[in-house]
Amino acid sequence: MTEKPDPMTVPFGTVFCDWMATAHSENGVYQYGGAVEAYGDFSLSPAAHALHYASAVFEGLKAHWQDDGSLAIFRLDDHVARMRQSAEQLRLPVPDTTTLRQMIVDSVEANVGEVPPAPGSLYIRPTIIGTEPNIGAAATPSSEALLFIVNCPVGDYFKGGVRPLTLLIEEEIPRTTPQFGMVKSGANYAMALAPTLDAMAQNSAVDQILFATGGDITETGAANFFLADNERVLTRQLDSSFLHGVTRSSVLALAADLGYEVDERPIALSELKEWAGRGEAFLSGTAAVLSPVGTILGGDSDIVFGDGQPGPNTLRLRESLVAIQNGRSDDLHGWRTTVNS
Ligand SMILES: *Cc1c(COP(=O)(O)O)cnc(C)c1O
Repeated sequence: MTEKPDPMTVPFGTVFCDWMATAHSENGVYQYGGAVEAYGDFSLSPAAHALHYASAVFEGLKAHWQDDGSLAIFRLDDHVARMRQSAEQLRLPVPDTTTLRQMIVDSVEANVGEVPPAPGSLYIRPTIIGTEPNIGAAATPSSEALLFIVNCPVGDYFKGGVRPLTLLIEEEIPRTTPQFGMVKSGANYAMALAPTLDAMAQNSAVDQILFATGGDITETGAANFFLADNERVLTRQLDSSFLHGVTRSSVLALAADLGYEVDERPIALSELKEWAGRGEAFLSGTAAVLSPVGTILGGDSDIVFGDGQPGPNTLRLRESLVAIQNGRSDDLHGWRTTVNS
């Protein structure tokens, strides 16, 4: 075994497990041999479609140690379904559910010895890239693709654990095109990069950009946005402009279980000030879990939620999510897939 740095102290996603699962498509059907292989480099045509025309989609999900000593993947089927939808949106060959699911489970089982204890977990990164060697194919889909699953042992996404984040409002430039925001594709990140860096360069205290074109809040660069108070949990309704987070859907279900009134509707920037006086804001995502927002900069004046510290409703929802992920509470919604029992 090669010596690897401690995943709890290195930046998220920079240490990779020993095993990966790969499948090339043939006539649009992924050929998975049923066995993982050693993590390592690929060989790819310099003319591969993904390298020129961004035909690439990905997923991000986690496996967590359970209190009973087993390991469980969180909401596997929802991530599989979303990846198939992303592939379809890019007109890449769509993996069948059984193959994709099996490849993810096999990768996790192979790397079980590298999963850190809670609050660490195993981050799973399925990816599909268009491999057709044809630089004339700018306006046609990649006929063939490579599907691969790599795993990373991870600690906390944000350095310093659960701490209130500072967001900066971006009202002019959208994160991506309105019709493509729901696709989990690297191209969306490429588009968001320059505006994000430019905005962040203005203020070193900013952790994330909150995209709110024309005052209409969508999400941050890689997490969904929520408001909450003692009675209500509010987030944007599903439309094609933003990524439909699995964590978002988990938070909404758990909030309803806990007796909150759940509201999904457009959120205007102009509402934030009033919420800040009596409520809380937070972000949700697989990597970030549920992260409190303390301050939102930009707009007319800076907005501080409560005393700027994580609010009780945010922490309650976070704890209820983490308890299901770690097997400390009952899996009422059927979200856990046990892999090593
Ligand atoms: C992945 C992602 C999220 C979070 O989705 P989860 O399924 O909760 O991890 C939010 N926004 C963007 C842009 C993303 O890529």
